[in-house]
Amino acid sequence: MKIDILTIFPDFFRGPLDYGIVRRARETGLAEVNIHDLRNFTKDKHRTVDDRPFGGGEGMVLKPEPIFECLESLGGLAPRAERVSGSARQSVILLSPQGRRLDQSLAAELSTLERIVLICGRYEGVDERVGEHLADREVSIGDYVLSGGELGAAVIVDTVTRLIPGAVGNEASTRQESFTDHPELRGDGPSSTCVSGGLLDYPHYTRPADFRGMGVPEVLVNGNHEDIRRWRRKSALAKTLRNRPDLLERIALSEEDQQLLEEARSQH
Ligand code: SAM
Repeated sequence: MKIDILTIFPDFFRGPLDYGIVRRARETGLAEVNIHDLRNFTKDKHRTVDDRPFGGGEGMVLKPEPIFECLESLGGLAPRAERVSGSARQSVILLSPQGRRLDQSLAAELSTLERIVLICGRYEGVDERVGEHLADREVSIGDYVLSGGELGAAVIVDTVTRLIPGAVGNEASTRQESFTDHPELRGDGPSSTCVSGGLLDYPHYTRPADFRGMGVPEVLVNGNHEDIRRWRRKSALAKTLRNRPDLLERIALSEEDQQLLEEARSQH
């Protein structure tokens, strides 16, 4: 996948994209990330990227020209209509608190694309024409306001890159994580034992079994596969009930899930 990031702070990305899975994906060519400094697309000697908003009001707004010109310089990008219709496997994304909220299913959708471009706003935001005529979607990383889109872009690169086939050593692990729902993996086979099914992930423990008097659930040490599977499922349900009950309303629970949830509720 090719990823371009448009920003007025290119140095911001020294670091966040240089570790772990993202770094490996970049080194092996699974993900090619290019950072573009919007100031290189200004024409005045002060390299001005912002201006006051029409109609007055607080703060400054990122001007459209550097963003349009930077994007046009990239080459190989399909027209917006083709990106919107999905006939081009590309997306130009404007980071915005007003956008569609990023979640695992959006990350999975983006990970199937060949190319994404991330436009980072700053100040009071970005001239609206960027969102209307250049970007084909706006994405928010959560219901809060950041000072700029750079953190959001790094979050998207991270979450999308790890879903590109081959980026994570053990592919099954990305399918077993919190929020991930793969109905085709539910069932009785061994790979189905800990698929999250849209729930939060179950708790994980490693050695030592006794750490400063804090133990590991007995079932994980001495239980059989079936007991472990049930314990993990029940723990995932209990954690979801405790921290994210809204997720329970969105997923179809099996009869066993409902029974385990009842047990979790009664122990709550
Ligand atoms: N005036 C805007 C508003 O109230 O919606 C907020 C602008 S914010 C201070 C500046 C930039 O940070 C935005 O243009 C966007 O690129 C980025 N940003 C802020 N919060 C974000 C979020 N939750 N998700 C993604 N990007 C965000």
